[in-house]
Amino acid sequence: MSALLEARGLRMTYGNGVRAVDDVDIDIEPGETFGLVGESGCGKSTTAKVILRLEAGQAETMRFEDADLMAAKGAELRRLRARLQVVPQHPATSLNPRLRVSESIVFNLRAHGWSRADRAPRVAELLDRVGLAAQQGRAYPHELSGGQLQRAAIARALATDPRLVICDEAVSALDKSVQAQVLNLLVQLQRDLGIAYLFISHDLSVVEHVSDRVAVMYLGRVVEEGPAEELWARPLHPYTQALLSAEPGQGRERIVLQGDPPSPSDPPSGCTFRTRCAYATEVCAGDRPPLIEITPGHRVACTLHPHPEALLA
Ligand code: SF4
Repeated sequence: MSALLEARGLRMTYGNGVRAVDDVDIDIEPGETFGLVGESGCGKSTTAKVILRLEAGQAETMRFEDADLMAAKGAELRRLRARLQVVPQHPATSLNPRLRVSESIVFNLRAHGWSRADRAPRVAELLDRVGLAAQQGRAYPHELSGGQLQRAAIARALATDPRLVICDEAVSALDKSVQAQVLNLLVQLQRDLGIAYLFISHDLSVVEHVSDRVAVMYLGRVVEEGPAEELWARPLHPYTQALLSAEPGQGRERIVLQGDPPSPSDPPSGCTFRTRCAYATEVCAGDRPPLIEITPGHRVACTLHPHPEALLA
């Protein structure tokens, strides 16, 4: 099966020299959920913006549904964007406050060439799919609750029949109980429609709940990735171990990270986590550790892995 999204060597360097995204690879299979986690400011959302072509980043390769997403322009880019939608953290970003919810959905349909006759039944179908009543479709955003607003944003994203939906902290602003309802809705929609998600969150418990595979970012780079179950059971990178130890109810010994992440404008040499890592040695300041596959699909960028003895075996 070929990947739905194949992104290699993603980079985003701002004019001030800050490398927000530094050589990130992300492959997403049809119908899967790929989680992207890390502290705020680690480059997760910028990665999404590069994929969505909202930031002028670079990529060695960026293919979506076998089309060259990086080179696409005009009508071809519009066609691909219909298949690649986003649910943002704050629905105000995608729902115009001056339009009724149904009008916002129609706006997206019109932008992607849906005929006038097809729009109304499509809006009714979408509202039903996300659990909103017709009356809520006639409401303005300020008349809806946070959960209803996020359902409306999901309906808007689904309007153009996307194959990949990027959920960028999509449930982070919601209360826990509402969060669970929206997550369950996303899982149900995936089962019914076969869509894939790139699920971005700083909240690991949320990512664990929905993801098939997960990548952990630190200072613009992926430091560990693997099947979600394995990564949770056997985190290898000291940063992943620290993140997971902070999750309530996991029964892990808490690892408290010292200090804040260094400035992305002046990252440490070698492993950029070394200024906060309890296992750092001189070796870690040398070359940047590459991602090495330890077990099928489970890769880590850390000089501790594979253990030196394993290399001699
Ligand atoms: Fe820590 Fe060194 Fe591994 Fe980086 S490479 S995580 S500093 S042990």
